[in-house]
Amino acid sequence: MEPKKKNITIWLIVIAVVALVILQSTLSGPHTENLTYSEFIDLLNKGKVQNVVLGKETITGTLVSKGLEGILPKAKIEQMKRYGKGQCRFVTARVDDPGLVSQLESAKVQFNGKVENAWSSVLLTWVVPILLFYGLWVFLMRGMGKAQGGLMSVGKSHAKVYVHRSTGVKFDDVAGIDEARDELMEVVDFLRDPWKYRRLGGKIPKGVLLVGEPGTGKTLLAKAVAGEASVPFFSLCGSDFVEMFVGVGAARVRDLFSQAQDNAPCIIFIDELDALGKARGISPVVGGHDEREQTLNQLLTEMDGFDTQKAVIIIGATNQPEILDPALLRPGRFDRKVALDRPDLKGREKILKVHTRQVMVGPDVDLSLVAGRTPGFVGADLANLVNEAALQAARIGKEEIGMADFDYAIDRLIGGLERKSRIMNPKEKEIVAYHEAGHALVAESRPRADHVAKISIIPRGIAALGYTQQQPTEDRYLMTKGELSDRLDVLLGGRVAEEIIFGDVSTGAQDDLQRATDLVRHMIMSYGMSESLGLATFEAPRQSLYLNVWAPSQKEYSEETARAIDTEIRKHLDEAHARVRKTLVEKRSFLESLATLLKAKEVVDRKALDALLVQTQ
Ligand code: ADP
Ligand code: ZN
Repeated sequence: MEPKKKNITIWLIVIAVVALVILQSTLSGPHTENLTYSEFIDLLNKGKVQNVVLGKETITGTLVSKGLEGILPKAKIEQMKRYGKGQCRFVTARVDDPGLVSQLESAKVQFNGKVENAWSSVLLTWVVPILLFYGLWVFLMRGMGKAQGGLMSVGKSHAKVYVHRSTGVKFDDVAGIDEARDELMEVVDFLRDPWKYRRLGGKIPKGVLLVGEPGTGKTLLAKAVAGEASVPFFSLCGSDFVEMFVGVGAARVRDLFSQAQDNAPCIIFIDELDALGKARGISPVVGGHDEREQTLNQLLTEMDGFDTQKAVIIIGATNQPEILDPALLRPGRFDRKVALDRPDLKGREKILKVHTRQVMVGPDVDLSLVAGRTPGFVGADLANLVNEAALQAARIGKEEIGMADFDYAIDRLIGGLERKSRIMNPKEKEIVAYHEAGHALVAESRPRADHVAKISIIPRGIAALGYTQQQPTEDRYLMTKGELSDRLDVLLGGRVAEEIIFGDVSTGAQDDLQRATDLVRHMIMSYGMSESLGLATFEAPRQSLYLNVWAPSQKEYSEETARAIDTEIRKHLDEAHARVRKTLVEKRSFLESLATLLKAKEVVDRKALDALLVQTQ
């Protein structure tokens, strides 16, 4: 619940409680007796009682005001007068006293019985509070429903689903994932003209599973299918079911499917399908997942049960297809899988084009260069990048986004925020400058290594003190042994430079060494790139994550081989170390001038690096 709504709720509860208390007290008048029964009898005997009303539990009445002083304390008389507004009114408990009536008669006191209105009292003490609480409850439930958001109420479960009559997204808005898009083209065709397919007796798709990492555009693609086919788009998120009360999720699924069938042709999109579709029965959490299982069962039932004549397509999205319950993947359910990969260089450029359609981009901007500097970025990252660049341009008062703004945004997204305020001491700065210069210099002197795009010693994020950004000339799916060994050299460049210059090493190279060792291990164990161990691979195939349990990968080789592998890794690393050392010693003067430039400028880009290369040669 939002804080505002919470406040209102608290106030409502307070008001309800206060109202109840007031109601109770006005109903039964003052409960506090101001006379004890013995005082009352005493007053009666002394002829001081004027009239009396006998209630079921209390006796009320008025006293003769004069001559009370000797009998009652002054304070008590005052109090009775206040309560009786001038008259001396009293209240006392009715004690079971059979002689009372005759006593009253003999004292000639006027007395009445009180007819208690049972109805009104029942009404006030029971019915009204119940109504009040019911009202409060209804209000709260409605508030909760609203807080969950959504545009449409589904059935009686008070659950909400997002429904877009028209998503407005077209295939033009989706770039860089052409294969996935082409596969879904067929679904669009079907939704546009279900009859065409039925006439030909074609197999109508029911469920499509989009598999891809977060931000690769799964939701966008599903929306685009709905947009292209101009059909309604129902969407819900698997993780919403996990926290809900038992039974609500299943009801929700039921209602959703019946709504969807009424709106056919249409699309049901289930985001984070893995959250509710995890393989059953082996969850590490003890108890407590009944809700998810119920919801999953309901989903399976609905998928099997719904009328295939109705053109309803269910699109699920997940980034962990391997943990899905196998039942979900059976024929007639999510039997069609479409993979969305991270976009390649061309794909990134296309995505950048899509997202720069709505913003002003300057003439100096080359989107292919931006794409080149953003390997590994997914669609969502690129959208974010364009946004950051636009914000930066606006911040410094520019009319259009320039290349510098893109550079800024890339730096910001890659390394976390620039933290110029973090002051490195001069010694640290010197070490980092030589370290990064070492990486850069080795990269420059290895023809098969990626080109250096930028070197920086501005601390970023938490861990990195500096970085050397290399720009692959193209996206690679295969690498040769030579390329891998050049990459290894670059990784060692930082540490070796520290060794040569300072005769000592810092802790800053830990990550480099980790990555270097991993690289060598892969070269030897997976790719068969070692002479002495030959073409064999030594990695046990990873057990699939079927049923959500990682089987420990077993060693499929002897202790002796293990020792041989260790020796081989050592040897490779030592050889690389020697190679790198040789390079850096030979080019020591360039190493020093690059480090000096870095200390002065903190950032050295490609242009400055080229200028320096020309100067020192
Ligand atoms: P997912 O559902 O895979 O996590 P989304 O579809 O929610 O990713 O992507 C988030 C945003 O990123 C989209 O709204 C869109 O702006 C952008 N985006 C992602 N992939 C692409 C793409 N292939 N083309 C264009 N924009 C994309
Ligand atoms: Zn390093």
